Amino acid sequence: MKFVYEFAEGNKDLADLLGGKGANLAEMTNLGLPVPAGFTITTQACKQYLASGVRPAGLDDEIGAHLSTLEEAMGRRLGDPHDPLLVSVRSGAAISMPGMMETVLNVGLGDASVAGLAAQAGGDERFAWDSYRRLIQMFGKTVCDVPGEEFEDALDAAKAAKGVRDDVDLDAADLRELVGAFQAVFAKHTGHEFPQDPREQLDLAVEAVFRSWNAKRAVLYRRQERIPEDLGTAVSVVAMVFGNLGADSGTGVAFTRDPGTGEPGIYGDYLANAQGEDVVAGIRNTVPLEDLERLDPDSYAELLRIMATLEGHYRDLCDIEFTIERGKLWMLQTRVGKRTAAAAFTIAAHLVDEEMIDMDEAVRRVTGAQLAQLMFPRFDLSDEPQPVTRAVGASPGAASGEVVFTAEHAVQRAEAGHRVILVRRETNPDDLPGMIAARGILTSRGGKTSHAAVVARGMGKTCVCGADEITVGEREFTVAGHTIAEGDVISVDGTTGRVYLGEVPVRDSEVVQYFEGDLDPANANDPLVSAVHRIMTHADERRRLLVRTNADTAADAARARRFGAQGIGLCRTEHMFLGDRRELVEKLILATTDADRQAALAALQPLQRDDFLALLREMNGLPVTVRLIDPPLHEFLPALEDLAVHVAVARERGERATRQEQMLAAVRRMHEQNPMLGLRGVRLGLVVPGLFAMQVRAIAEAAVALAAEGGTPRPEIMVPLVGAVQELETVRAEAEKILAEVVGDSGVPVLIGTMIEVPRAALTAGQIAEAAEFFSFGTNDLTQMGWGFSRDDVEGAFFWRYLELGIFGISPFESLDRDGVGRMVRIASDEGRAARPDLKLGVCGEHGGDPDSVHFFHEAGLDYVSCSPFRVPVARLEAGRAAV
Ligand code: PEP
Ligand code: MG
Repeated sequence: MKFVYEFAEGNKDLADLLGGKGANLAEMTNLGLPVPAGFTITTQACKQYLASGVRPAGLDDEIGAHLSTLEEAMGRRLGDPHDPLLVSVRSGAAISMPGMMETVLNVGLGDASVAGLAAQAGGDERFAWDSYRRLIQMFGKTVCDVPGEEFEDALDAAKAAKGVRDDVDLDAADLRELVGAFQAVFAKHTGHEFPQDPREQLDLAVEAVFRSWNAKRAVLYRRQERIPEDLGTAVSVVAMVFGNLGADSGTGVAFTRDPGTGEPGIYGDYLANAQGEDVVAGIRNTVPLEDLERLDPDSYAELLRIMATLEGHYRDLCDIEFTIERGKLWMLQTRVGKRTAAAAFTIAAHLVDEEMIDMDEAVRRVTGAQLAQLMFPRFDLSDEPQPVTRAVGASPGAASGEVVFTAEHAVQRAEAGHRVILVRRETNPDDLPGMIAARGILTSRGGKTSHAAVVARGMGKTCVCGADEITVGEREFTVAGHTIAEGDVISVDGTTGRVYLGEVPVRDSEVVQYFEGDLDPANANDPLVSAVHRIMTHADERRRLLVRTNADTAADAARARRFGAQGIGLCRTEHMFLGDRRELVEKLILATTDADRQAALAALQPLQRDDFLALLREMNGLPVTVRLIDPPLHEFLPALEDLAVHVAVARERGERATRQEQMLAAVRRMHEQNPMLGLRGVRLGLVVPGLFAMQVRAIAEAAVALAAEGGTPRPEIMVPLVGAVQELETVRAEAEKILAEVVGDSGVPVLIGTMIEVPRAALTAGQIAEAAEFFSFGTNDLTQMGWGFSRDDVEGAFFWRYLELGIFGISPFESLDRDGVGRMVRIASDEGRAARPDLKLGVCGEHGGDPDSVHFFHEAGLDYVSCSPFRVPVARLEAGRAAV
């Protein structure tokens, strides 16, 4: 196996093997850009080292051979006392993990070669001794675990002895002495002298970089960012160039356009007479990159040329690191740069205008997750409020409210009509009711996969976590000198992780205003709105999947249509039985005679007809899938415990409570241990006479009424929870009779279909299709019953642990489990279509609005996805991305 690649042997597509840094150094080398000579040791070598604890056989020889080539290219030899070659040893994984792993600079320097380095630097002894002390310090810390403070203390002592404050005020003699002190620190902690053999330094540094893959912070970062554990890091060995050789040297970082807004124009920082680590450490203040034009016009001009070359080559925003050594520019790193969601859209549109990419590529360059971010409500920051702390933005959104410290208080205050923010050190499953009641959640511990973060994201609730600057007490928390007591108002921004004291006003994002039709993309001065408009338009042109919405009110339907919905994929009719209609439903449930039941149904029917008419009107001309009632009926009655207490108290007082007692008896009768697997869906329709018939009649009458108004109704009747074709056939036979009676030959088409949400339905889809004109996958229940996970209980209870263990990378209720639940979807689609070629296929579970799941549904050949109104644009975009 080949473990080492010359820069000239690699290219940007080899990131898995050479890491992002190594692959891009190779690419720049091959573009003829000024990259210091070097080579990259592969991630394979790292993996073998981590598995065995020793450098893999053959690696040392390969490094030796490449080192010779490097020495030849540079005209210098590692360890040469007169003219030494120094190298940097840099980490770099396939996926960028900024600052999480180690790098060692100035490798190769020793007692014998300091003078040679000084000569090389034109007699600059100070520089040579400073380089040496940096090597001992970095090497000591990184390779040999010497505590960093010991070196800091020695440095402080040197400055104190001389009576100066800055490192730069130490001269060559001081630094030479400091090297002695550092070597003593090194020997004390390691039990041996600082290694003078340059090759030994190099080998140990390479091993240390390998090991840094498993550094605590790197492991944590991977967990948070869901980066696989087994990638390993590559190690690039690069000839050193020095930015700290005087005023004509320096180092900087730059972006080829603004990564915050996406606007064209270079953007970066420069620090004269410094090494890269000084910039990162923030020891001195950088100047804007434009200042380099004044300091070194030639290097500046060359840098601009190189940045243009890189953009043209990568056809994207690039970020770079560079060093200028005595007026000569060197490129140390480049990569396609990270950017905000807004910048992603703006840059994609600009690159199309600049003819670097086409619209298909622009659609590929943005994601539904980025669009969703742009749709969350915003804090109106026009008054420039200052955050009191910043932490992990774990679940996006903007929320203000009174601080509460327990779930119990959260529930109490919310019930009293207050908006609350639940503040906890960390959350656990007992906090769930409080999390539901709160507008936002703030924790001082835990990252993006903590319990709080996972549960909040699942609920779409704003959450900031890991705010380690705050100290959470019983009834107050402190941060940055402030004490915030229970009841005080704070504002948390789950997108940026910022926390503000007091209330910050909230507004709709511009992108939502655009979708609402309140901002004209042609007139908007805002390049973001115009970019979103262009990219969405193209995604719509390209997508094969239709996008419908889940809506049960006319207002939701209207909004979804403005957001681009092409019909309703799921109207949950039980939502229409709440409020003052509860009483009618109670009557229906408590009815003991046919006459009572018929009376209750007769009272509900005109109300239902008006509900459906309103929906059909809003979606005039587009399909509207109405699902017959699904949940167990006792969900409409008071809770057993509450009723029992009520009745007991009444009895105690000698009061009459006939109705309550009747209800209690009914609740007891209907009580189920496992209501989700009990009397619900089609089972209810088969057991409660007249219930489904009432709904079917209401749908039919609404359709006929809209047609009479001159509209174009396209109702679709959907039966929930079917597991066997016989169930559907029974309901269908009854429905067809009613349709024949009400719709007759009026020409209004009414389809009858079913949800596929019970595993047995998926596995007998060929039979079920005989009685269904369409299937809609209820992936919420299909996931619940496929995994045997109670959808109402498990997320807060143990999913965080499953995520920690890597049993799944994301909740299967959030993103479709392709292997298991997805397989059932494929089987049902294939067998359903085989039995009925024109069978319409859709999905209406939450997954219909999840980006990754939308790609799956596209691949599986479904006709449409249906999701909540706010997810409609996300689904449109992802359906487009799946098709290009
Ligand atoms: C489903 O199960 O996926 C579905 C859409 O139905 P509900 O969420 O109402 O159970
Ligand atoms: Mg369901």
